[in-house]
Amino acid sequence: MPLKVGIPRALFFYYYYPLWKRFFENLGAQIVVSPPTNKSIIDAGIKCAVDEACLPVKVYYGHVTALKNKVDLMFLPRLVSLERKTYICPKFMGLPDMIRSNVKDLPTVIDTTFDLSKNSSSIYRPAREVGHFLESRDRIIDQAWDDAEEFQKEFEDRLYKGHLPCDVLDSLEKGKELPVTCNMKRMCVAVVGHAYNLYDTHISMDLIRHLKNMGVKVITPDIIPTAVSDAYANRLPKRMFWTMGKRLLGSVLHYIDEGKVDGILYVEAFGCGPDSMIEDLSARYVRRDRKIPFQVLTLDEHSGTAGVMTRLEAFVDMISWRGVS
Ligand code: SF4
Repeated sequence: MPLKVGIPRALFFYYYYPLWKRFFENLGAQIVVSPPTNKSIIDAGIKCAVDEACLPVKVYYGHVTALKNKVDLMFLPRLVSLERKTYICPKFMGLPDMIRSNVKDLPTVIDTTFDLSKNSSSIYRPAREVGHFLESRDRIIDQAWDDAEEFQKEFEDRLYKGHLPCDVLDSLEKGKELPVTCNMKRMCVAVVGHAYNLYDTHISMDLIRHLKNMGVKVITPDIIPTAVSDAYANRLPKRMFWTMGKRLLGSVLHYIDEGKVDGILYVEAFGCGPDSMIEDLSARYVRRDRKIPFQVLTLDEHSGTAGVMTRLEAFVDMISWRGVS
């Protein structure tokens, strides 16, 4: 019987699921992913998370709770830095400790630290540490890793062709065809935010689908190659040291420069420290360099579909009144 490795459907899942799925499967494990976020997952997360946690972290707790009795190993890596001199939000760094101290009866936890802040090419060391939970031979682990990185690259290439991560992940999980990307829409809106907020349909109240149903073409930072958003972020007067912040703000600067989007909707989670700064900087650059509608939508566990829909409709109407329809 293969060992079952649990991957919570939250946070880094929306960026790196293809990589980890392929890596663990190459090493003979069976992957178990928690179900899509629902009310009971959120309620379980709120019950055991610390009060100060942002919504996505609370949701992560809920997914761990949903998985813990179904797997032999729980994958809860400590993501510190994935590129040189740039860091992931501190909440990611503390996740394994926070989960351990608040969620009881966990299976064996894979809590390997990924810190590439000093040397981006040192990825094999933590990859081997993870691999050793399933396989003792480094050579086999390295091969599994190289193949998984190729698979992740294929996933990212599909994003850069204009497909949203939610569609690509769906096609990977269920073997579904990717939807045809359509450019014939009444307007184009950039929805900017962390992938775990945008594509978790429960957290986001399915806002991407609602916008599409209103005839809006939706683009997000995830379909912009990292090299492009990095190049824009490098124009900032000060170096941005958050990986995700660099990506979001770099994308906004790209949209401003390219001039193809009719409005920008910034989606943030209540309690997110990095977003309070990135959102404010984004708004300032939009106001200064290209006066298109810019709206912030803050989500928390009390957000309701009706309220979000009203905001979306008002935003789309505002863009229409400016002569785009
Ligand atoms: S970046 Fe913001 S939303 Fe994401 S984990 Fe950190 S505090 Fe939470």
